[in-house]
Amino acid sequence: MSMKISKLAGRPVIVGGGAAGLMTALHLAPEPVVVLSKSPLGAEASSLWAQGGLAAAMGEDDAPALHLADTIAAGAGLCDEAVASRIVNAAPAAVENLVRLGVAFDRRPDGGWRLGLEAAHGRNRIVHATGDGTGREIMRALISAVRNTPWITLLEGVEARRLIVEDNAITGVLAASEDGPLVFDTERVIIATGGIGGLFLDSTNPAGCYGQGLALAAHAGARLSDLEFIQFHPTAFDGPSRPLPLVTEAVRGDGATLIDDTGQRFMADEPGAELAPRDIVARAVWRRRAEGHRVFLDARTHPGSDFARRYPVISAFCKMAGINPANDPIPVRPAVHYHMGGIAIDGEGRSSVKGLWACGEVSRTGLHGANRLASNSLMEAIVCARWVAESVAGVSTGRVRPHAIEALPRAPDPSIVRPILADGLGVLRDRDTIAHTIHNLFPIACSRGAASDPALVGLMIAVSAFRREESRGGHYRTDFPGTLPAAVSSSINLAEALNGANEIVETETASLRSARP
Ligand SMILES: Cc1cc2nc3c(=O)[nH]c(=O)nc-3n(C[C@H](O)[C@H](O)[C@H](O)COP(=O)(O)OP(=O)(O)OC[C@H]3O[C@@H](n4cnc5c(N)ncnc54)[C@H](O)[C@@H]3O)c2cc1C
Repeated sequence: MSMKISKLAGRPVIVGGGAAGLMTALHLAPEPVVVLSKSPLGAEASSLWAQGGLAAAMGEDDAPALHLADTIAAGAGLCDEAVASRIVNAAPAAVENLVRLGVAFDRRPDGGWRLGLEAAHGRNRIVHATGDGTGREIMRALISAVRNTPWITLLEGVEARRLIVEDNAITGVLAASEDGPLVFDTERVIIATGGIGGLFLDSTNPAGCYGQGLALAAHAGARLSDLEFIQFHPTAFDGPSRPLPLVTEAVRGDGATLIDDTGQRFMADEPGAELAPRDIVARAVWRRRAEGHRVFLDARTHPGSDFARRYPVISAFCKMAGINPANDPIPVRPAVHYHMGGIAIDGEGRSSVKGLWACGEVSRTGLHGANRLASNSLMEAIVCARWVAESVAGVSTGRVRPHAIEALPRAPDPSIVRPILADGLGVLRDRDTIAHTIHNLFPIACSRGAASDPALVGLMIAVSAFRREESRGGHYRTDFPGTLPAAVSSSINLAEALNGANEIVETETASLRSARP
């Protein structure tokens, strides 16, 4: 294997084989590029699980300016308007490009787009495929295109464990494979490792999505931004299986309502009702459950008997649990779904470390602000992949210096981190729950154990959440329920997170000591 690896020296290395990574690789062609995917393509990518679709102003009554306005409103003051405008304006062309790559989106009988409606969108603008199988169809087409592109070297079962950095510049990637450690000598790395749901107990994400890209970037010295903003999906299927299957927002867009176990429709009087922004719906469901109720999505009237045809994936998992959505309310609960924060990047995807780019959910572009508008994430990954690829291709590198193989950090295991984060960084947080989380995570993050990288990512999120003394978008502090007049993005790096955590732990310990009789 290492003989073959040395032939790949100097090529850009993409870490992650979801929509963001594969699209970046395709845009880089014909430049030779390497894609590392820790699992077989599609097996552990959120991209494949996307149900609702991809937001783009394709309708005759729609325009990118309207899409932008909805995105900014959902983002609760933290969107970067210039970035968001550029991305939503590029969305319709990105959809057409996916069609050229072979993605079969749903069409009306007259050939026009069949556009769905999701929460906080003022227009029907969700392009979808096979009803609720959009991600599967997009990934089918992208995987096929990548496998048929000879200049893309795809290495499945290879997991990036560390980036090699000299003088704040990338010089290599250290990875694990079944044949042992590998070093890729390269000055260009694109992180496309997806989200963080796998750091929590209740999440809709594949279990393998636990923020490895954030750990890679943090160890490399990169800045990360807005990490405290985590989106909880209000309607994950409330059953025993983990990850939790998702009941897409499109079902509410089709008229399904939220009721509790007494049959009361508790969102009816809220502005936007069931289609209010996700954070508002998630908090309402969370509170209802905290009061001892179960919550259900009632799709018996809308879409009613059409449910199985419109939502075959949801229908299938409901059936396995003995539920027929045309006759029975679907039990639902909030679950960690999407990370708005991530590696801080500029408009071309460049991080603060030379030679390090990021794309997709792991990045923080400024599109989502404090709360992502539904179906804006696949779109962001697909749109930004082109700009990242153009930026990477524009960087000429000299002869790369070969590295000796270094000792690999241990294979990461987030299992002991999950209950800690689930307790302290839920839909509702406060100073005490966050401080307790930091207290528990700090020693694990400082260890060299299997949980240290997952704990480090959790710690960076917790320190960011501790410092934000307000409620905004996906970050709700019960001790600071108001929103500050000025919207300011947060920014953190590894050293600041560890120093911040140390201070918080010391202060908490001192105050506990002084409170003792
Ligand atoms: C159930 C569900 C439904 C969703 N529905 C929608 C929707 O309808 N519309 C929408 O816009 N968004 C939706 N989202 C969000 C959207 O799917 C994701 O934000 C998006 O697909 C992320 O793409 P990505 O390429 O960044 O990451 P992913 O698709 O998650 O891919 C990341 C890849 O990186 C690999 N990887 C991770 N770490 C390493 C490593 N160290 N080394 C090598 N490989 C690594 C993983 O194995 C994976 O293959 C949904 C998400 C979920 C979970």
